[in-house]
This record gives sequence, structure tokens and C-alpha cells, in this order.
Amino acid sequence: MVKCLNNDITAEQLKERLQVIRENICKAAFAGGHDPDGVDVMAVTKYVGAQAVVRAIEAGVKLIGENREQSLREKIPALPRGAVDIHFIGHLQRNKAASVVKMVSTVQSLDSLELASVLDRQALLCEKKLAVLVEVNIGRDPHKSGIAPEAVFEMVDALRDCPNLTVRGLMTILPLEADEVQCEKYFSQMNGLYVDIRAKNGDNVSVDCLSMGMSSDYRLAVKHGATLVRIGTSLFES
Ligand SMILES: *Cc1c(COP(=O)(O)O)cnc(C)c1O
Repeated sequence: MVKCLNNDITAEQLKERLQVIRENICKAAFAGGHDPDGVDVMAVTKYVGAQAVVRAIEAGVKLIGENREQSLREKIPALPRGAVDIHFIGHLQRNKAASVVKMVSTVQSLDSLELASVLDRQALLCEKKLAVLVEVNIGRDPHKSGIAPEAVFEMVDALRDCPNLTVRGLMTILPLEADEVQCEKYFSQMNGLYVDIRAKNGDNVSVDCLSMGMSSDYRLAVKHGATLVRIGTSLFES
């Protein structure tokens, strides 16, 4: 991570920024005909150290996301126990799966059946149910992970063979170069997939989460039905 955001940010500043983000979510949700209370804000903490994360928790953050196993391992001991829900949002190498499963409630970046079976086995060993989101490469960006949109149904069906996983929905990251029109198109396609897989609820499939939208595009994501937005820069920037 080359980018490094403001580690000295105060809980007061974080509270104000969270409020602004909440207001923006409200407007965007109403614009799209969605319930703003159905949208959770994740603080993405990959650009800041543990003390800034502690202040974010003081400011009211209930959910954090990290994309590297090592950063999680370093930060978790500094956080108040049980104060925050932690999701893994980065590309997960199999040899890091055991460690990550111990530390998080949810892996948002499930992008293959091979990884699913590794996570399933690790969840069993930890005697926990691990929530997963299927990562979809909606923009077919060759630089991004995630499965193709047409493979989503087959993937969700196949995940019924992983009883220690709970399939809670979908996650996506849009191509960096997407303009506003393309963003809306991709978010709307994601919402279509989300509505369709919700109809598959049953067994370990319990879909209630559509994770899409980051600092630059969360308003558009919420307008198109996101239930979880992942915000790093807008929260922690100087
Ligand atoms: C870094 C990251 C974010 C947050 O991005 P910002 O633009 O800093 O808000 C969201 N989702 C994922 C998967 C990330 O890696």
C-alpha cells in the first residue's frame, strides 16, 4: 500500500465525516427508492494504523474491512475486544486462509470454488460459520479478481456443498476507469443478480448483503441498491 492516510485524525473528525457519509447515503437511497437504514457503512482501514481504527470505533464505526492478512494480524490486538465486526475484502491466498478465518466473520472476496472448499474446511476446524460474499467481476476487468456475472448462479448452487459457509450475497469492485454512466450500469446489473440469487435462499444460502461502492462511487451504488458500502479515503484522508 503506497497510499497512507491521516493517522492523526481525531474521533471527532471521524464522527463528522461519518455523518456526512450517512447524509449522502440518505439522499442516494431516496433517489433510488431504497431504505437508507438498510445500508451499512464499512470503514476500510487498510491505509491507517491501529490507533486510527480505535478512534473510528470510538466515533461509532461498527464494521471494518482489511485486504491483507498481515495488517489484520497486526491491528486486531490493539482493538477493543468484540467492539467491531471484521470482514476480509482482499484477494485471499490459500495459505493465508486458516489465519484469516480465525480473525473475521466474513470473507467478501470469495472468487473460486477451490477457495470456498479451503474456507469451509477452516471454518469447520474453528467450529464457526463463516459468512461469504461472492465477488463478481461485473466490469470484466482483466486486472481484477471475481467471477464472471454469468457464473454467479452456478457458484451459489455449488456453495450448498460447503455447510460451514453461509452465503450472504455479492461483492464487486468496478473498473477504475468506469465513468458515471458505466458505474450506474454495472451497479444496476449487480442489483439484478442480487435480487435473483435472493430467490435461492434456503440451506446455507441466506442472502441479505450487496457490497458495492467505495469513496468515489458509493452514492451511485446506494442509488442502485447497495446494502453495504466500503469507505476508506473519504473517511481517513487528510
Ligand atoms: C481499498 C478498498 C476500498 C476503499 O476504497 P476507498 O476508495 O479508499 O474508499 C473498498 N473496497 C475494497 C475491496 C478495497 O480494497
